[in-house]
Amino acid sequence: MEINRFSDEMKRRFGEKVYRIPLSAGCTCPNRDGTLGTGGCAFCSGSGSGDFSFPMFPIPEQIRKGRELISGKTGAKKFIGYFQSYTNTYGDQDRLKELFREVISEPEICALSIATRPDCLEDSMVEYLAELSDIKPVWVELGLQTSNSATARAMNRCYELDVFDDAYHRLKRAGIEVIVHIILGLPGEDESDMMETARYIAQLQPAIDGIKIHMLQILKGTALEKQYRERPFHVLTMEEYTDIVIKILRMLPAGTVIHRFTGDGPKKILIEPQWCWEKKKVLNYMNRQIAKA
Ligand code: SF4
Repeated sequence: MEINRFSDEMKRRFGEKVYRIPLSAGCTCPNRDGTLGTGGCAFCSGSGSGDFSFPMFPIPEQIRKGRELISGKTGAKKFIGYFQSYTNTYGDQDRLKELFREVISEPEICALSIATRPDCLEDSMVEYLAELSDIKPVWVELGLQTSNSATARAMNRCYELDVFDDAYHRLKRAGIEVIVHIILGLPGEDESDMMETARYIAQLQPAIDGIKIHMLQILKGTALEKQYRERPFHVLTMEEYTDIVIKILRMLPAGTVIHRFTGDGPKKILIEPQWCWEKKKVLNYMNRQIAKA
């Protein structure tokens, strides 16, 4: 099966391999600060699903440090400024707009990517991001995880599907690229539920620009860990996960950029699935299966 991989798409678009620099906007999340709740999504570790970044520094410094770290290993020259952790359009809107403009202004930055919740996208922010997208590509990454309302409530996502739908269409009308995140293996969901989420995403018009498919990871200290210990549920095997990913890839509109189809959770706090630890083996297996499909 041919898929439009992130790395290939970036080479086509920017003429070379590009890397994400994880940035911190110093945001929190309404699902953690008490606005909607304090516990967060059941699967979310306290780091807000974050990666490494240099949160204490001003944006140009974060970019410089990230660039040095990545360039030292890869020789990369172009980067995507990636606000990954927490809800990056939540908080003082003027301050955030300034941060986003700072990122776009950096010469080595070829695109800005902002992960957020669909219930934290004011119209004025969408308009502002549309303005920035005239300078360089702007992507908004929305964590849907599932289209199933019962699962979403059980996971304490704290927004309904129509909220996602509304935000998605406002972003697309404004000309902003949208990347949707989904999670496979959520407790209570079987394959038909996951396919239903894929069907929902696949029918969106205009079509999604990209997708990140994640395997559910049970992390230490999360509500999900407690739930798993009290009422263990089936964790997808690598083979089951891969089969479902392939079925989902088949359903997506042609050209959808596949930003990722596996995850490498923080090893120190990853409880299950243990097969995620062997990132190389998982990637090799999945790539072989996708090529054969
Ligand atoms: S919305 Fe994101 S940052 Fe907030 S609790 Fe859920 S996963 Fe964590």
